[in-house]
Amino acid sequence: MFDKLMKMTFYGQFVAGEDQESIQPLIRHNKTFGVGSILDYGVEEDLSSKEAECKEMASYASSTERNGSSMSKSEKQYQAHLTFGDQRDSVISGAHTYFCASETKYDSRMETLLHCIEASGKASDDGFIAIKLTSLGRPQFLLHFSDVLTKWRHFFHQMAAEQGQAGHAAMDTKLEVVALQESIAKMGIASRAEIENWFTPETLGASGTMDLLEWKSLIRCRTQLSKHLLIPNVQTGQLEPLMSQFTEKEELQMMRILQRMDVLATKAMEAGVRLMVDAEQTYFQPAISHLTLEIQRKFNVEKPLIFNTYQCYLKDAYDNVTLDVELARREDWCFGAKLVRGAYMVQERARAVDLGYEDPINSTYEATNAMYHKCLNYVLEELKHNSKAEVMVASHNEDTIRFTLSRMEELGLHPADYQVCFGQLLGMCDQISFPLGQAGFSVYKYVPYGPVMEVLPYLSRRALENSSIMKGTQRERQLLWQELWRRLCTGSLLYRPA
Ligand SMILES: Cc1cc2nc3c(=O)[nH]c(=O)nc-3n(C[C@H](O)[C@H](O)[C@H](O)COP(=O)(O)OP(=O)(O)OC[C@H]3O[C@@H](n4cnc5c(N)ncnc54)[C@H](O)[C@@H]3O)c2cc1C
Repeated sequence: MFDKLMKMTFYGQFVAGEDQESIQPLIRHNKTFGVGSILDYGVEEDLSSKEAECKEMASYASSTERNGSSMSKSEKQYQAHLTFGDQRDSVISGAHTYFCASETKYDSRMETLLHCIEASGKASDDGFIAIKLTSLGRPQFLLHFSDVLTKWRHFFHQMAAEQGQAGHAAMDTKLEVVALQESIAKMGIASRAEIENWFTPETLGASGTMDLLEWKSLIRCRTQLSKHLLIPNVQTGQLEPLMSQFTEKEELQMMRILQRMDVLATKAMEAGVRLMVDAEQTYFQPAISHLTLEIQRKFNVEKPLIFNTYQCYLKDAYDNVTLDVELARREDWCFGAKLVRGAYMVQERARAVDLGYEDPINSTYEATNAMYHKCLNYVLEELKHNSKAEVMVASHNEDTIRFTLSRMEELGLHPADYQVCFGQLLGMCDQISFPLGQAGFSVYKYVPYGPVMEVLPYLSRRALENSSIMKGTQRERQLLWQELWRRLCTGSLLYRPA
């Protein structure tokens, strides 16, 4: 009875069905209205908050035992913390969370995703599936790798500040190599000969300067250089090894995640399905983004098969987007992105206050909106000049949809070219998705599916935690009554797609 009740209400509204077979009618129905699907196997572990905290902390214990007092503010961001062990707290929209599991369990999650790809390929020839990297590999590795990547980026900005370029946008910051070599030698980080080896004409070109992309390429996953690299700790002034705790086990974990992504991407390519890598919490995101770029490089050859996600509520969202667009240009692969505002705001802010590091989120809702439109505008301009790049505008915000449509018109981006697509969650904002689909725009619903009892924790938190979604549904209810009334008055109760 409970199953039936749920299917008639919450579950029926926000979840497509229990398995790959039962969701097919809904996918086909939406398709007749020109609305595609991003399949998301939305099963979460149903743990109490206490259990979640214990499980998560146990997974971190072995690798990140550190003395909190000697850590810099930004380092604290990348440490596990008991209060935030339950990563599901205050997460909104389509986001759900995976807890650390054994390698076998990650393999079995990959199998589930392979079935998901099959289902998507069977249902349509232009579908997506959503993947979360925390479901494919150990969170403590992602946390540690994010820490390393962020330290390396901070070091670049520290050097830029020394050269009088503090506060410049990432793409406009260029270090003078001679001055940089001198600074590094002065710090005692490496010998002159070693330093000259890092900055060869092959890595730099002939410009005599180095930008952040060139800097980042020095610690591409598979290079050995980073192992021996010392960088200054801003707080203590001491030199510390960049990858001191990057163990062989962690390297193996990185390989396993990349292998799983490789298997998924190969299957997706065969099935004509695209992969959308979801963005998660800021302390995982640098690693998630880095690993996604590795796979994009390999698979986004003819067209974007893998889409990365950019969260515009982040202060450094514009830097992240512009850097990756430029990287795709330089390396000649196809840029594919989903732009979102971001689902983890409350949790991120609480964590930043509690652990004492700078809040990574824009200070106001208006600032997030401005950031979203700035990033979107940049990507749309790129699309105008580059017919192989694509973007998904994943938003329920009507102003953002209007902004996109008007910029598409101004830039001459035709809906039939499918370079720009739109995304909304299943059961929400149909007043945006369906008219767009009917008007010939490429539009997708984010479609969670899974057994009732297993999707339940995810659904109940959607209802309890997300007051903004509830405000949105009030407006939708009002629009539905209006439409019902219109149909009754015009005698056209059943609508058939054009
Ligand atoms: C298809 C699809 C895929 C998604 N995938 C992801 C994903 O991979 N990762 C992810 O994190 N999220 C994802 N989301 C969720 C998304 O990030 C948003 O939480 C959700 O869509 C609500 O934002 P909105 O653009 O629809 O508009 P709105 O409802 O107008 O904006 C709400 C958002 O604005 C921001 N915001 C609100 N108040 C403030 C404030 N005071 N200061 C700063 N910012 C504020 C927050 O990000 C909040 O979620 C996805 C959403 C969709 C539709």
